[in-house]
Amino acid sequence: MSNKEKIVVLGAGVGGLAAGYFLARTGKYDVTVLEKEAVIGGLCASFEHNGFVLDYGAHKLYSIIPGVLDEATALMGDRLIQLPKKNRLYLEGKLVDYPLKLGNLAKALGPLRFLQIGFGYGIEVLKGIFNRKSPGSYKDYIIRRFGRPTYELVFEPLADKVWGDPATLHPEMARTRLPASGGLELVLKLLGLKKETADTNAEFFYYPKAGFGDWPQALAEGIQAHGGQVLTSVDVQGLEMQDGRVRSVKTAVAGKPQSFACDYLVSSLPLPLIGRMVFGGSDEQFNKAVTGLQFRHLVLVYVWIKRPMVMEDQWVFFPQRNVVFSRLFEQKQMNPALGPADSTVITADFTAAEGSALWQSSDEQLTQRVIDGLVEIGLTNRDEVTGSLVIRKPNFYPRYDLAYADKMKLVSDKLRQVPNLLTTGRIGMYNYNNSDHCADMGRFIAEHLAAGEAAPDIWRALEQRVADYKIVD
Ligand SMILES: Cc1cc2nc3c(=O)[nH]c(=O)nc-3n(C[C@H](O)[C@H](O)[C@H](O)COP(=O)(O)OP(=O)(O)OC[C@H]3O[C@@H](n4cnc5c(N)ncnc54)[C@H](O)[C@@H]3O)c2cc1C
Repeated sequence: MSNKEKIVVLGAGVGGLAAGYFLARTGKYDVTVLEKEAVIGGLCASFEHNGFVLDYGAHKLYSIIPGVLDEATALMGDRLIQLPKKNRLYLEGKLVDYPLKLGNLAKALGPLRFLQIGFGYGIEVLKGIFNRKSPGSYKDYIIRRFGRPTYELVFEPLADKVWGDPATLHPEMARTRLPASGGLELVLKLLGLKKETADTNAEFFYYPKAGFGDWPQALAEGIQAHGGQVLTSVDVQGLEMQDGRVRSVKTAVAGKPQSFACDYLVSSLPLPLIGRMVFGGSDEQFNKAVTGLQFRHLVLVYVWIKRPMVMEDQWVFFPQRNVVFSRLFEQKQMNPALGPADSTVITADFTAAEGSALWQSSDEQLTQRVIDGLVEIGLTNRDEVTGSLVIRKPNFYPRYDLAYADKMKLVSDKLRQVPNLLTTGRIGMYNYNNSDHCADMGRFIAEHLAAGEAAPDIWRALEQRVADYKIVD
């Protein structure tokens, strides 16, 4: 029998798999990853449908965190291809560079609107000299950085589509999602006088030839190569707690109960779910905080078009309110071999709030709205559309409301009382992030646990680390 400590990891998305991979690689732990679905990968998986290999929306492998891309390329080798990044924003019938450049906006909007935008920005610069208070919301943050006209033209409609009213969003939401250049630097970049850096804009990215899902697949293979296991179709239903520690994980496998004993538990399950499993309904304040963390649901509508390819970019953002989607992605732009030569698939992604008319729409209604949008922007004709698919992923977008930081503090202070529990991943850490951040979290947990640090201390340090993550477009 192995004398290694047993670590059970919950969830086989990149969050769980990366933690499992880096932990197994230390040689100190017996790692078992438990996944409720029959397939691994979570939102980073790929799947086959109607002749195509498809991802869950546009996924690129890129990172500005030192060492993360090196780890991915060392693990995957020639399973990865490198692509120049092509993505833009659709504004008033024209495609403009994203991140935004004022010079480019000028061409798209004409001199008068451009002057208006420049004037709006100038006013905010002047106001900033006297106003030293931190921005109170997403809306404040963006107006101060870009001016009101640009906020109203681009950021307000886009943020409203993805997260709902920007005045009710925490400024952290903007900081994570947008380049954090200083004032002068931002002006120079907007004017095109200073180049975007790798910190704000990816010039290239990696993509697995076989579909994005080959990235979690490679992590799972890495776990197995280091003696660990990844078990699918295992539904985690509860925890057995003893003296405040997690002793074992209670699951259902093919409808039958099965327990997995552990020395440590690393969970990438939704934070509210693991919170309920640990404390049940015993602490009202905790319950209120954890169930008060807000999420938006993800909707993906795939449309099959009888034409080899229809876009020039890999993906394009759509802030305008007359189309339902906030982004369109063409799968074959990543690798034409992922589908047949004579047709293409466009994936439209957007989010919806629980209980909203949008979320309650039928699949047929959602598909119709997406096709209407594609026709309106001139990407296709109705008679070229040969098929469609709608996928809904509930609660996948953390929505940082104005009170989220207080709720998170309460939740994590309480969960950190469990001395052998750590959480990771996007919903597991309640952190709006990409898969490279998930990989970084896994690496961080493994390095610090193997160095003998206590789990609650690692968790505290990890929280500080994830607060600095930025999504690079
Ligand atoms: C439209 C879109 C575009 C994106 N673009 C990019 C991009 O360009 N690059 C990038 O790197 N990232 C991108 N991301 C983000 C990326 O998808 C996430 O960061 C990543 O998938 C999070 O992984 P995770 O493991 O934390 O969560 P998940 O992928 O959700 O994995 C959680 C796993 O836990 C399992 N699980 C849940 N409950 C249980 C249970 N009770 N028992 C057992 N298992 C359970 C789930 O089945 C799932 O497999 C994008 C996301 C979206 C939506």
